[in-house]
Amino acid sequence: PQRSEVHYFGAGPAPLPTPVLEEASKVLLNYNDSGIGLTEISHRSPEANAILAHTQSGLQRLLDIPESDGPDGYQILFLQGGGSGEFSAVVYHMVAIWLGGVAKKKQQGLDQEAARLRLDYFVTGSWSLKASQEAARLVGSEHVNIVTDARKYHDGKFGVIPSQDSWTQTKSKDDIALTYYCDNETVDGVEFPCAPEGQNLIADMSSNFLSRPVDIRKHAVIFGGAQKNVGTTGITIAIVSNRILPPHAEMADPALLRKMGLPIGPVVLNWPTIAKNNSLYNTLPIFDVWIAGQVMQRLLDQSPADKSPRMATQEAESNRKADLLYSVLDAHSTVYNVVPDKSVRSRMNLCFRVNGGNAEAEKAFLKGAESRNLMGLKGHRSVGGIRISNYNAVPVEAAEKLASYLEDFAKTQ
Ligand code: PLP
Repeated sequence: PQRSEVHYFGAGPAPLPTPVLEEASKVLLNYNDSGIGLTEISHRSPEANAILAHTQSGLQRLLDIPESDGPDGYQILFLQGGGSGEFSAVVYHMVAIWLGGVAKKKQQGLDQEAARLRLDYFVTGSWSLKASQEAARLVGSEHVNIVTDARKYHDGKFGVIPSQDSWTQTKSKDDIALTYYCDNETVDGVEFPCAPEGQNLIADMSSNFLSRPVDIRKHAVIFGGAQKNVGTTGITIAIVSNRILPPHAEMADPALLRKMGLPIGPVVLNWPTIAKNNSLYNTLPIFDVWIAGQVMQRLLDQSPADKSPRMATQEAESNRKADLLYSVLDAHSTVYNVVPDKSVRSRMNLCFRVNGGNAEAEKAFLKGAESRNLMGLKGHRSVGGIRISNYNAVPVEAAEKLASYLEDFAKTQ
């Protein structure tokens, strides 16, 4: 089939708006009539700088990111290494900031103080679990506090966000280097209705970036790989508060980190280095930045400048598509079993089983979908089942076609 005949619901890499793909194929060959393709130009050329500035400004406007150089401002960084690279970056950076703060207050007894280090993790799905495991690998599990492990409250599987009264957040704020949560769990279909409270709050928004307004000021860092809602695989976006960057925050010297047995990260993941170099410390894949900029421009164009917040239009559309699909799934609950609890169902990744996870029925479901050119619906290999990824580039028409297939298939069961 042609691309225009297919509706793709893959979880990531994920679909892009067709006009962006069409324009991308042109600029790959010849960017702005320069005779040179976009993946061939220097990341330090004026063209590349303009692309970088356009994408940064698009994101700043969409999410209303505070811009000042003062402690209340944020930096918009583009990195490589994917969402997984940031699992490590958050630990390297926040531990260095934490130790820097401790060392400033105390010169004596630092060994004792370092033993108090805590990294608080909400474990609500496979990705936050992985992030917490990376933290334990880097600093030792004795320093990682699991605020909640949602599996304990849902038959050993992810699918709920346990109530706040069961959370075990580290009591002494002075001990907490970071509080980590994954806003949308791509594999398990669990989404936080709103951000939790926590000291130095870090959010992984890889799979629901730019799908609703975000309370930026509540966060120390928000990061996400671009390959779901924002663009192509190859760049990771980090929105980093100036409060945790020099000169507003004191970072421990590498020599002190070494002395305390704490990890020192690679320079390409070092946010202050990337910030100082406006994301051009090393070769940045400018094509990926261009794609993200085009996707953002479309979101800006669909939402008038006087409309606040700018993400409201996309949020309404995401909700409409998700509501339509969940309503069909719920209407046929003898055939379809949505995995997560209703209160935390993701608008972006809708995870369900067919006939209680019957392998033949799920195979038949996928085969029937493919015969209608509805692709990419297989659940993650670790959990199985079916997953509809309802990202921004999935048109309403695609959700409607899928909803009518869900209806038709249910009748055959
Ligand atoms: N976080 C979330 C929520 C994800 O969905 C993914 C990948 O699907 C990752 C992190 C890891 O991203 P990457 O594959 O870019 O390292």
